[in-house]
Amino acid sequence: MRKISSEQIQQAVYQAITEVSYHCDPKVTEALQQALEGESNELAQDVLSSILENHRISPESMIPLCQDTGSTVVLAEIGAGVQILGQSLPEAINAAVRQAQHDCPLRASTVSEPLFERKNTGDNTPAIIHVEYVAGERIRLLIAQKGGGAENMSFMKMLSPAIGTDGIIDFVCEGILAAGSRPCPPLILGVGIGSNFEGAPLLAKKALFEPLGRAHPDAKYHQMERQITERINTLGCGVQGFRGNCTVLATHILHTPCHIASLPVAVNLQCHAHRHCEVII
Ligand code: SF4
Repeated sequence: MRKISSEQIQQAVYQAITEVSYHCDPKVTEALQQALEGESNELAQDVLSSILENHRISPESMIPLCQDTGSTVVLAEIGAGVQILGQSLPEAINAAVRQAQHDCPLRASTVSEPLFERKNTGDNTPAIIHVEYVAGERIRLLIAQKGGGAENMSFMKMLSPAIGTDGIIDFVCEGILAAGSRPCPPLILGVGIGSNFEGAPLLAKKALFEPLGRAHPDAKYHQMERQITERINTLGCGVQGFRGNCTVLATHILHTPCHIASLPVAVNLQCHAHRHCEVII
C-alpha cells in the first residue's frame, strides 16, 4: 500500500491552480494562431489577435487569463493501492483552492447557497470533486478552473436511440447555435454519449481534458467529431459572436455503455480561456 499525505495533494493542487490561472494550454494558443491565419473577417481577426495578446500578457504580468477565474473542478482517480494520510481528499483540495484564491489572488466566484441568499463563500470553496477508484498505486487528478459563461450554455438531453448519428449532430449544432456569443467562442466541445442522466454530463466534462484536436481512436466517432466542428464553423457565429469562420476549435467525444432504451447525450462547452491540467502523484 502506497502512502500519500494530504499535504502532498494540497501542494500539487495549489501549484496546478496557480499555473493554469495564468497559462493557457499551449495547444489552444496554437489553434487560435492557426484560426487567425485562416480568418478572413476583419473583426474576428481583431478579436483573435486580442485573445492571443492576452495569452502572452497574462503569464508575464501575472494577471489571470480572464476576469472569471472560474470554479475549481477536480476529476480524481484514486488507485486501490493508495492510502491517503492526514486530511480527506476533499479537505486537501479545498485547502488548496482557498490558498490559491488568497495568494494569486483569484476572484471569489462561489456562493454557498444557490437560490435565496447567494452569499459568497469568499474563498472559492467548495471545489467540485468527482472521485473514481481505479487499479494501481497512484492518484491522478484532472483539474480545471471552469468559467461560468461556457458552463451556463452547456446542455444535455435523453435522446431516442433511433435518432442516429445525424440526429446527435443536429442536436449538438443547434445547441451551439442557440448559445451564440454567450459561451465566449471559439469553443472546445466535450460531448458525452451514453451512461445515464448523471453520467453523460460527467463524461462530457472529462472529454474537455482530452488533448486538443486529438483523433478519436474509433474512426466512426472521429468522423462525428469532425462533422460537428466543420458544420458549426459554417454557421456564422464566429469569434465572440462577431462572425467569421471559427466558432469551434475542436470537438471531443467520449462514449460509454448505456441502457437499451436510452441515448443520453451531454455537451459541455469550454471557452478559449481553457485552464486545465493533469497531476499525477
Ligand atoms: S466564458 Fe470563459 S472567456 Fe468568457 S468570461 Fe467566462 S471564463 Fe472568461
